[in-house]
Amino acid sequence: MPSKTKYDVVIVGAGAIGVASAYHLIQNHPELSVLVVDARSGPGEGSTGASAAMVRDVFSSWDNHVLAKSAIAFYRRQMEEREDLRTPFPLLDLYGYLWLLPESHRQEYLDIVRRSGGSIDAETLTVDDLRSFPGLDLSPRRWFEGDDAPPPEPITGGLFGRNCGTVAPEMLTHFYCDEARRLGVEFLFDTVVQRLSFEGREEILLHEPTQRPFSFQQFMKGRLRISRVSFNDGHSVSTDSVIVAAGAWSNAILHPLGVATACSARPQFLFSISGSVVESLLRWEPPVRPLDAIEGKSRLPFVIFPTGATLKPIFRQRQIWVGCVDTVSHPVGTRENPARDGRLEYNMLKMGDRDAFATDILPAVTPYLPAFDTAGVRLENAWGGYYNFSPEGLPVLIEEPYGVIFIGGDSGSGVMKADSLGRLAAAKYDGKSEAPLFVGGSYRLDRLSLDHRAVEQEKIIL
Ligand SMILES: Cc1cc2nc3c(=O)[nH]c(=O)nc-3n(C[C@H](O)[C@H](O)[C@H](O)COP(=O)(O)OP(=O)(O)OC[C@H]3O[C@@H](n4cnc5c(N)ncnc54)[C@H](O)[C@@H]3O)c2cc1C
Repeated sequence: MPSKTKYDVVIVGAGAIGVASAYHLIQNHPELSVLVVDARSGPGEGSTGASAAMVRDVFSSWDNHVLAKSAIAFYRRQMEEREDLRTPFPLLDLYGYLWLLPESHRQEYLDIVRRSGGSIDAETLTVDDLRSFPGLDLSPRRWFEGDDAPPPEPITGGLFGRNCGTVAPEMLTHFYCDEARRLGVEFLFDTVVQRLSFEGREEILLHEPTQRPFSFQQFMKGRLRISRVSFNDGHSVSTDSVIVAAGAWSNAILHPLGVATACSARPQFLFSISGSVVESLLRWEPPVRPLDAIEGKSRLPFVIFPTGATLKPIFRQRQIWVGCVDTVSHPVGTRENPARDGRLEYNMLKMGDRDAFATDILPAVTPYLPAFDTAGVRLENAWGGYYNFSPEGLPVLIEEPYGVIFIGGDSGSGVMKADSLGRLAAAKYDGKSEAPLFVGGSYRLDRLSLDHRAVEQEKIIL
C-alpha cells in the first residue's frame, strides 16, 4: 500500500530508465512526493534484468552516441567514488567491443569513427591481427551443411571500440533505487498499474460508460489533467503527473489513454554456454592496446559477427552469452498485457527458448566459428526479454499536455543510456526544453519527440 493518497509524480516502471528518472527527478526537486510502481518484486526485474547489459558509445547516430557516452561516464564516476560499486565486482567493466567486419561494412564503420571527430575511441584491426582469434574462419565457404546459398561475406578487418564493455544491471538499478529512496522517493513493488485516468477531477467531464473525457476539453487550456493511477489490487492514488517508463509494456497502459508512442516491442533472447571452446575464447588476448590498467592485459571483448550474432564474455563464471538480434521469427508485441489482465506474468527464464539455440544461433555463428557446433560448446541456459523499438532505433520522449510523459523506445540499448534518459525525463517534467548531460553540454529534448523529431536512423543495433 502506498503511504499517501496523493503524489506529485507517479513513475510507472522500476527498470533502468524508471529508476534513473526517479533519481534525477528527486535530485532536481527534493520537495516532490514521488511514487515509483512496479509489477515485479524489485527494481530491474523486467527487460533490464534479462539484458546483456553491454555498454558502448559506438553508434552511427550522434544522439545515441552522446546519450550513451554521457551515461557511461556517469556510471564510471559513481564506481570511482564509491567502494560498494567496485567490490565485490565492478559496476562497469570496460573490455571493449570487437566488430568483425566484412568489406561491405568496414568503410562505413571507419566513417562513423572519423565523423565523430575523436569522440569515439576505437582502433582498427587487420586480417592478420585477427588470425590469432581462436578457431575463427575469416572466409567461410558455406552457411551450413547442405545449403547452396552464396557463402557468408568474408571478414576483411575489425574495429575495436574502447569505451565499451558491460555494466552490472542489478547493481545499477539498486544504486538508483537506494539513492532515490534516501532522498524520499517511495517504491511500491508487486503492484500492477492497470489504468491511468482523469477520474475524480471535478472540472473534467467524462463519458458515462467509458470514463473517458469529452474531446472539447483538450482545447480548454489547463482543463484536462491526469488525475488517478489505479492498481490491480483495487487501490488508487491521485496525481498531477505520470512518467511512464514501463519498457515494452508501456503501450498497454498508454494506448487505452489515447497515447501512441510509435514504439513496438519485439522478443529477444540470450543463451549462456560453457565448455572447452568457451575456455579457449576466454583465454584469448586480442592484439589491441590493453584497457585493463590493473592486469595490463587485453581480454576477450564483446564480439560481433557479420551476421549480427554476438558473444559476451562472462569471465567469473567461465561462460559466454550468445545472442542475435531477431526481427523475423517472433510476432511484434508483448505476450503480457498488464492493463487488460491486471497482472504481469513475465518470467525471463520461462520466455527463453533452448531450441532456438540450434535453429537461430548456431547458423549465425558456426560459419565463422565452426567449433561452435561441437561437444566443446555446452548450452547452459536460455532466457528472453524485449527490445522496445522506435522506428529509427533511438529513444522516444513525449509529453501529453495533460501531464503524461513517456520515456522509452530503447531499441535494445536502454541500459547503456539509462542515466541520460533519466535526466531527460526529469527535465521534461520541469517544463525545460534542454537537459544538462553528465559529460557537459545540454541536450535538446524535442530531438526525441515525435512531432519535432530530429534524429538520424541508427545503423548499429545489436
Ligand atoms: C536479450 C536482451 C539483451 C539486451 N541487451 C542490452 C545491452 O546489451 N545493453 C543495453 O543497454 N540494453 C540491452 N537490452 C535492452 C534493455 O534491456 C532495455 O533497453 C532496458 O531494459 C529498458 O529499460 P526500461 O526501464 O525501459 O524497461 P524494463 O527494464 O523492462 O522496465 C520496465 C518495468 O516496468 C514494469 N511494468 C511494466 N508495465 C507495468 C505496469 N502496468 N504496472 C507496473 N509495472 C509495470 C516492469 O515490471 C518492468 O520492471 C537488452 C534486452 C534484451 C531483452
